[in-house]
Amino acid sequence: AEDGDDVDVVVVGGGIGGLANALALTRKGLRVRVLEQASRFGEVGAGLQIAPNCTRILSHWGLLDEIKSLGVLPESIVMKDAVDAEVITRLDLHDVERRYGFPYMVIHRSDLHGTLLRACRRAGVDLVNDVAVTGYEQAEGGAVAVHEGGREFGEVVLAADGLHSVARGILSDDRPVSSAYVAYRGAMPIDRVADLDVHLKDVVVYVGPRCHFVQYSLRHGEMFNQVAVFESPKALAGEEDWGTPDELDGAFEATCAQVRAGLPLMWRDRWWRMFDREPIMDWVRGRIALSGDAAHPPLQYLAQGAVMAIEDAWVLAEHVGAQGVTGSAAAGTPTGVDWDAALAAYNAVRPEHCRRVLTTARAWGNLWHHDGEKRRWRNEVLRDRDVYDYDYVDWLFGPTALTPGQLPPMFPAHDTGGTARNRARG
Ligand code: FAD
Repeated sequence: AEDGDDVDVVVVGGGIGGLANALALTRKGLRVRVLEQASRFGEVGAGLQIAPNCTRILSHWGLLDEIKSLGVLPESIVMKDAVDAEVITRLDLHDVERRYGFPYMVIHRSDLHGTLLRACRRAGVDLVNDVAVTGYEQAEGGAVAVHEGGREFGEVVLAADGLHSVARGILSDDRPVSSAYVAYRGAMPIDRVADLDVHLKDVVVYVGPRCHFVQYSLRHGEMFNQVAVFESPKALAGEEDWGTPDELDGAFEATCAQVRAGLPLMWRDRWWRMFDREPIMDWVRGRIALSGDAAHPPLQYLAQGAVMAIEDAWVLAEHVGAQGVTGSAAAGTPTGVDWDAALAAYNAVRPEHCRRVLTTARAWGNLWHHDGEKRRWRNEVLRDRDVYDYDYVDWLFGPTALTPGQLPPMFPAHDTGGTARNRARG
């Protein structure tokens, strides 16, 4: 670096994505510095669902036991209708673990972030706070992150700076897209829900007209987590100040007693307006690359945002590892990593997977929020679904693809049917 000691890689952003990148690359023998604008490393918010495609990677990094000791392994994900509380469909998470080899878990955000932070510290990552990166430059043999106090050089600069990424401007002039939906969260000691009709061993998603409500236990069942999401009438009316608490109760008026009983327990002093972005298919410019939400912020309906950020880190590091960190001059870099090849391999596979997740998350959210006739149709279709049919999740929960050739088809049985029908027609 032009400031302080030399590092090989600079990571901008110390969220789950930034820390995952720092850890993965340090494990390959590289020296990594993380620049975080906040004055301390941490996560606000409550629970996070992490699917087998994430726990597989955490296991690879030797962190799964710690994660298991902090989180909860629920028995099922149950989808219920938010109006009549009837069960629509479910996933048996014991069977999911058998099928994919790794568990589907829920964990407090700060526990996942804290586990990555401790692992980064043990691995010797240089973690720097109070540095807001304002610009990026390509440089001889690498790139530079520019901030008020100076410039940081790395053979590569990875931008994991979230939804409002500064670095994304290098690759795209797109803006965050408002969904007009807002999320309220609340995590509390489990005894607060002792008198409520809740499932302590499941993740329950109540899907309703223009709203949904999620409940699950956290921290070995010591805590209970709730998420209430709804479409803001004020957002639709074009008002600046939307998603405010006065809209919360009205949005759930037509829902069942179980949902309404949970609403008074939501945090009302903060809320999360939900944005995503249009997928972009190129995340790399020279030696600057996007990662995590900076590259692909999703709507959270598939619960894959943090999971994709961790996958990004694993995929890039595996390609770096394949190049070898040799310290020899053969690759033309001091570390011996052929960065251009590793970044190209990353850029060849991750944008397509994340594009699928982003567009599917939008469609899945629309399905959750149906009203009237469409709601009835949705419930019928999903009730007909075999609980052990994994066509809709294999492409997500299976092993993370390292190459485009390993990307699974999204919905195998249905794709085949469609193709056959088209062929017959053609
Ligand atoms: P961020 O967490 O946004 O981190 C970016 C970091 O960069 C921050 O620390 C920020 O301070 C720092 N930063 C930003 N700009 C700069 C700068 N210029 N200089 C220096 N530092 C900077 N995902 C799941 O996998 N499962 C779930 O169940 C799930 N549920 C969700 C529920 C809700 C309601 C929401 C809103 C999201 C959910 N997500 C879920 C998505 C997940 O939270 C995000 O995708 C994930 O946290 C993104 O991580 P990140 O590190 O890429 O970005």
